[in-house]
Amino acid sequence: MAGVIYVVATPIGNLNDMTPRMREAFEAADFIAAEDTRVTVKLLNHLGIKKPMISYYEHNLKDKGEYIIGRVLAGENCAVCSDAGTPCISDPGEILVKQAHANGIRVIPITGPSAVITALSVSGQNTGRFCFEGFLSTAKKQRLEHLEQVKNETRTMIFYEAPHKLLNTLKDFKEYFGADRSLTIARELTKLHEQIWLTTVGEALDFYTENSPKGEFVLIVAGGVFETAEKELTLDDVAHKCIEIMESENIPMKEAAKLACVKTAFSKSEVYKAAQNLRG
Ligand code: SAM
Repeated sequence: MAGVIYVVATPIGNLNDMTPRMREAFEAADFIAAEDTRVTVKLLNHLGIKKPMISYYEHNLKDKGEYIIGRVLAGENCAVCSDAGTPCISDPGEILVKQAHANGIRVIPITGPSAVITALSVSGQNTGRFCFEGFLSTAKKQRLEHLEQVKNETRTMIFYEAPHKLLNTLKDFKEYFGADRSLTIARELTKLHEQIWLTTVGEALDFYTENSPKGEFVLIVAGGVFETAEKELTLDDVAHKCIEIMESENIPMKEAAKLACVKTAFSKSEVYKAAQNLRG
């Protein structure tokens, strides 16, 4: 008979967030697939548990996944965990869970912390409808495509970010969401220097321009509130608006397109192209 796969959430900072079910799952597992075995061994040592471990990380997901599935089909139980938080959420695990479903293997959630929900719960932003956006790509093209997709989002948006990329991300937020957009910065959750700061994009940008960001960050951005009239503008309307702005402000068409597209359903490049066509 096939074994099972436990998808085990682990603390995001505070070891007191370990749960009895987490311990039980590690004990019930024949082996543990860990993102970084050096990190997970510390947790296991803390619990006094010794188990065989294999590393399961970004660059070996498919092959290791097939290997894990093979062992589970042969009857072993596997616990999968990441360095911190819930596997599969911007962490390894998603492919393994898909492979498990495809092979009829039972997947058991061992619930626990995840930075996304922890941050949202204390953010002071609307929680009724939200979307998790993970990390913005470091590749410029994908990053801008991603921001274009969420530019008109009305739900609360949650992003993960690394400290060395925070400043650039805040600059991009200013461009796409505006300086006045409400933003909560949730830093070092459940740790000694935990900080929950309900602010605006502009204020946060000013602060982190002066102070270098330290620690782990979740950014919770309020959804946009758009006037129906702006949403209903056609591309042709916005292209005309672009030309008007360009002429009245005496600025290049690219800059005018950036201003004209705000709160509309169109990207600045769409508006730029349409305005160029109008100009002939
Ligand atoms: N799977 C994990 C989870 O469920 O929370 C997230 C893993 S992702 C690779 C790591 C990112 O999560 C960090 O860069 C940061 O954005 C966020 N994060 C993790 N722990 C955090 C904490 N204690 N405080 C704030 N953000 C945290």
